Amino acid sequence: MASQSSQLFAQAQKRIPGGVNSPVRAFRGLGRDPFFVDRAEGAKIWDVDGNEYIDYVGSWGPAILGHAPPVVVEAVRAAASRGVSFGIPNPLEVEMAELICAWVPSIEKVRMVNSGTEATMSCLRLARGFTGRDKIIKFEGCYHGHVDSLLVQAGSGALTHGRPDSAGVPADFAALTISLPFNDIEAVRTAFSANANSIAAVILEPIPANAGLYFPRENFLESLRNECTKHGALLIFDEVMTGFRVARGGAQELFGIRPDLTALGKVIGGGLPVGAFGGRAEIMDQLSPTGPVYQAGTLSGNPLAMAAGLAQLRELDRIDGWKLLENAGAHLEELTRAALNDLKLPCVFHRIGSMFCLFFTADPVVDLASAKRSDAAKFARYFRACLERGVYFAPSQFETGFLSTAHTTDEIKRTAAVMREALALS
Ligand SMILES: *Cc1c(COP(=O)(O)O)cnc(C)c1O
Repeated sequence: MASQSSQLFAQAQKRIPGGVNSPVRAFRGLGRDPFFVDRAEGAKIWDVDGNEYIDYVGSWGPAILGHAPPVVVEAVRAAASRGVSFGIPNPLEVEMAELICAWVPSIEKVRMVNSGTEATMSCLRLARGFTGRDKIIKFEGCYHGHVDSLLVQAGSGALTHGRPDSAGVPADFAALTISLPFNDIEAVRTAFSANANSIAAVILEPIPANAGLYFPRENFLESLRNECTKHGALLIFDEVMTGFRVARGGAQELFGIRPDLTALGKVIGGGLPVGAFGGRAEIMDQLSPTGPVYQAGTLSGNPLAMAAGLAQLRELDRIDGWKLLENAGAHLEELTRAALNDLKLPCVFHRIGSMFCLFFTADPVVDLASAKRSDAAKFARYFRACLERGVYFAPSQFETGFLSTAHTTDEIKRTAAVMREALALS
């Protein structure tokens, strides 16, 4: 008999393109259909057929306290009872803005939006409005949401499905985007000199996590900061994934670099649809109604979203979540490295705090080109073997795994045992 998940997927495909509302959920190239979730709690997910999984996707990042954390659920319930949306300023928006400015080193003013995509899109418009320039520099394999001018050599779902560039993006838009290899500061210098006084901004994931996970070379971020300052371009950190996860103040706190603008999302919403962007007051004040750069949103600063986000962030701070996440990550890393060692598998394992990625290649991974050397067939076998044994990793090589503060020592040990079996089979 077909599983409930397969039946739902067949139904979904008739009415939703590809059966999913976001492409990576489709499990393409993995030799099996996606499962449908019934409920989730802590580190665990149950599908509609009653299978249980230890989850390392965490809703693609937001679920940093695990699923359905009582503080967040209670905050949403309490907020909902007072009204689910107003379109009128509410006190929670001020609390959220103050918290962000206090925690994220470079942010003096901030505006709330409804997704990471909206945040990066708004950063670009603001950077262009502020500088009076049109061109932007991005990096191959960095994903910044499905913004037209950023779907050039993009990571995540775009890459998983083999099309890092999208149909429907006018060539004239793409022409304003200069896409360079990550970690190549010489390429950045060359691009600045070839496009004198026309580059509005350099946007990047300070820790790229959408083509697998890899790291900025020593001084790369610092050099980017210097080049931007020298050429009058803005430095935009897309911290939609790293914000509030790798440290309280994100990657910028960790590396001690101040971008001009920062895009936030995922963790900030506690699982509700939220993004934010902020930066130097002088730049942010260019937004309407104080400035000429238009930006708006019917549901922006929504009370449920603000309540959920504030509850999640305050709880993280209260329990010193970043320390717990580092400990959990270090434990998983230790067990993974032991398995790779015992099995004599030449894989690359990357981790920073609670983010991790296993590449099926022996060569160092420092950018998109090297990430793509990972053996996709091996990954697919490994992914399926883990899932069959109750461990859910992201259904693509070009994604990052996430631990939450809810992952217990026992769950991590169980995961490592499953990984070991799956690696032996892959
Ligand atoms: C997820 C992600 C986005 C897009 O956020 P959405 O909420 O999916 O629109 C942008 N940038 C980075 C780095 C991301 O990981």
